[in-house]
Amino acid sequence: MDYLPIFLRVQNRLIVVVGGGAVAARKAELLLKCGARVRLVAPELAASTVELLRQHPSAAQMTHLCAPFCAQHLEGAALVIAATDSEAINAQVTQLARAGGVPVNVADDAERSDFILPAIVDRAPLIVAISSAGTAPVLARRVREQIEALLPARLGALARFAGSQRERVNQLLQPALRRPFWERFFGSAANLARLGTDESLASRAFATELAQFSQHRDGVGLGEVYLIGAGPGDPDLLTLRALQLLQQADVLLYDRLVSPAILDRARREATRVFVGKDVGESTLSQDRINQLLIEHARRGLKVARLKGGDPFIFGRGGEEIAALARHGIPVTVVPGITAALGAAATAQIPLTLRDVSQSVTFAPGHVAVADTLDWPALARSGHTVVFYMAMAQLAGLTERLRRAGAPAERPVALIAQATLPTQRVVRGTLADIAELARTGGYGAPALLFVGEVTRLVQQQVLESLEPCLEGVA
Ligand code: SAH
Repeated sequence: MDYLPIFLRVQNRLIVVVGGGAVAARKAELLLKCGARVRLVAPELAASTVELLRQHPSAAQMTHLCAPFCAQHLEGAALVIAATDSEAINAQVTQLARAGGVPVNVADDAERSDFILPAIVDRAPLIVAISSAGTAPVLARRVREQIEALLPARLGALARFAGSQRERVNQLLQPALRRPFWERFFGSAANLARLGTDESLASRAFATELAQFSQHRDGVGLGEVYLIGAGPGDPDLLTLRALQLLQQADVLLYDRLVSPAILDRARREATRVFVGKDVGESTLSQDRINQLLIEHARRGLKVARLKGGDPFIFGRGGEEIAALARHGIPVTVVPGITAALGAAATAQIPLTLRDVSQSVTFAPGHVAVADTLDWPALARSGHTVVFYMAMAQLAGLTERLRRAGAPAERPVALIAQATLPTQRVVRGTLADIAELARTGGYGAPALLFVGEVTRLVQQQVLESLEPCLEGVA
């Protein structure tokens, strides 16, 4: 290691920044964020530096010396940063700083620097600093991006909350128990989720957990469940939170609609359990799935319950969280991109469109509920309807819409295996879509989009392409 990583307290200490351009402004901004006093030395200022000075008008925070850099400017400085585009000036700053015993940094010049400013992931009070010792700043930035994606945005709030509870924990728990308690606390996604919604709720839940922990320390019943919407199939459509929790889960319980590419993103050691609705010949009932979730969580495991799309749209997520709540098992729900949104995006069908469609309904397309739907409302114009589970009953659905007043020529689109490499889109009308689907061999899962929006944009896109295609020919 060529550098010692340290975190330096700079509140109210004077730091000199030499340079008036955008790089100097960025350094000054970071220093101000850490509570340092900044002395900016530059005969000329770029717009971003002027703006920064405007935002920090108090001389106690930031002063500007409008002059070429000289030795006196370093008086009283704890650190100096040179960020000019002149090598000669940067070299002069290094020389004078070293002569005066002031640690110096020159932007993008490790040779002339005594210290370097790392790439940082800011979840203050938690900070991750990354450095390649000046050898590969682009690599350091890439690593930073990866860590950025991995760490929940609310981690800082969690750290602050934990800080506020430390005294309480120290009073209640023996020293040997404190660490296991905090391990468990920070390992629980539910804590992070609660904190996001309501701090007093987090505080109450914390008190309960602490009391439970001090009574039973054997780890029984300490698991939790993540109810994760895995999106329509393309793993790039997972949310960052879904990915973070997939990295933590010990067990995955997944449905048929969860693609193998998504399971690949989970922790390698996690046990994978298929709980799709048809395992071989038999069917796993919802009760049995609830029971499995409870059993795994009771063993102290982190259980990821993965569902296609969003768990709360035709996903029976509501029933699962109710069952878990009855057993006092903490649940974190992660929203997913529901199939209709994924399919609309890839097929470029805007669900609402000015002057064409003002509202959208997601409706179930299977027979069991057909009689409970408000068909005249679904058949209205100026409206988009997306039927889920539409494949088996396509002819029945279109027939019902027509009987309820929708014209036979109303445009529709059937989208099968949306967002997957096997996606297929077929456009037609209420009159012919069932036949088109039958002869085209479109397989489930599929959605039926009904409304003018399925045709309009497509037409415009084609029209806009025509002149280009003519040019090519
Ligand atoms: N919770 C899921 C829906 C589950 S119901 C969600 O929010 O998307 C199952 C139905 O979803 C299927 O019958 C089909 O209509 C639809 N569906 C799920 N994934 C799909 C996909 N990749 N392409 C098209 N339809 C899909």
